[in-house]
Amino acid sequence: MKIYENVPISSFTTMKIGGPARYVIKIESEEDVPEAYKFANQHKLPTFVVGLGANTIGHDEGFDGVVLINRIPHHIDKLPGKDIFKVSSGTEWDDFVLSVSELGFTGIEALANIPSTVGAAPVQNIGAYGQEAASTIIEVEAFDSAHHQFVTLANHQCDFSYRHSIFNSTEKGRYFITSVSFRLEKGRLMPPFYRSLQAYIDRYHITDFSPLSIYHIVTTIRKSKLPDPIEHPSSGSFFKNIYLDRDSALSAKARKIPVYDSDGLNKVPASWLIEHSGLKGQKLHGFRVWADAPLVLVNEDGADYHALALARQGITGKVYEKFGFNLEQEPEELVMLDRFDSTPVNPFEAREQKPNSPEA
Ligand SMILES: Cc1cc2nc3c(=O)[nH]c(=O)nc-3n(C[C@H](O)[C@H](O)[C@H](O)COP(=O)(O)OP(=O)(O)OC[C@H]3O[C@@H](n4cnc5c(N)ncnc54)[C@H](O)[C@@H]3O)c2cc1C
Repeated sequence: MKIYENVPISSFTTMKIGGPARYVIKIESEEDVPEAYKFANQHKLPTFVVGLGANTIGHDEGFDGVVLINRIPHHIDKLPGKDIFKVSSGTEWDDFVLSVSELGFTGIEALANIPSTVGAAPVQNIGAYGQEAASTIIEVEAFDSAHHQFVTLANHQCDFSYRHSIFNSTEKGRYFITSVSFRLEKGRLMPPFYRSLQAYIDRYHITDFSPLSIYHIVTTIRKSKLPDPIEHPSSGSFFKNIYLDRDSALSAKARKIPVYDSDGLNKVPASWLIEHSGLKGQKLHGFRVWADAPLVLVNEDGADYHALALARQGITGKVYEKFGFNLEQEPEELVMLDRFDSTPVNPFEAREQKPNSPEA
């Protein structure tokens, strides 16, 4: 277990903003996980888990706590005689998607090219092109920092929905996910596909619907419109889509706002709202609303969190003024989590909120 001090959050997150984290621990095995929480408890400091940092935003004042960076080695295990894959949480998501697509397994091929560790995939239930990680996850193995023990959570215990699970809501900050098990199927998807995917398939007269073919198509589409986070710092989609009840959907349609059926739910694409608020391609406080994907905010000037907050306010304000919808931010913020304000069951000693912590 390697421990570093005063590491800029900007150095391990793809949006490249954020001041120093007091301690950063590189987790290189499952055994490191309890040790890291023990270290945090001994120093009476809060913790925050990070994978690739592709959905995490740092604050300018940094984090007066311990960041656990997940670097558990790549491991994909196919259970004998079953279509179940147990994958270590430090495995890169795209490596897993490619390897199972090559083997002819379907279920996650449309989730190609999402920058993620496997351990972060259940947290916001990653999704794209009509697929979601949750529909293939059987169980999640994790270290429960509240009871200082390893646990197994079945799919139904994770309370998955659109960009939601217990890991980013009720139990935020409690678990360190160490592995995830997926059930996939041998076979191929059949048309019709998700709209933009189908449009590409029609345009190029594609007839190969094998998982590997879909994997490559999705990768090509994503590379053509999404900014590469290495060259253009971003956190991917900065806002969530909006879901409406039946009456609100009817009223939105009457106002000529597009409402799509998404698995029985009424979805308004947040990118459409941003584009039709005149913000596509605009630069606000150092952040560019990416012209090819207006949900993405790119940090062009090495701007800080303060500038990001102003840019966010500029966008949400315009969308609200024009359409009356409140956009919600998708990326997580690397801050002291609320649960540390209460007194959780603690195997070591009571945690104290530091007086100079980001939220104090
Ligand atoms: C260019 C780009 C495109 C993107 N496209 C998509 C997309 O199509 N669909 C989509 O859903 N998302 C997308 N994202 C967002 C991002 O890829 C996902 O949210 C991804 O799961 C983040 O993975 P990560 O390892 O970087 O997580 P991090 O940003 O490091 O962490 C995200 C959250 O998960 C928690 N976490 C991470 N690892 C663990 C663990 N082992 N145990 C417990 N909690 C953990 C963290 O505490 C944090 O709250 C995109 C991002 C970028 C930059």
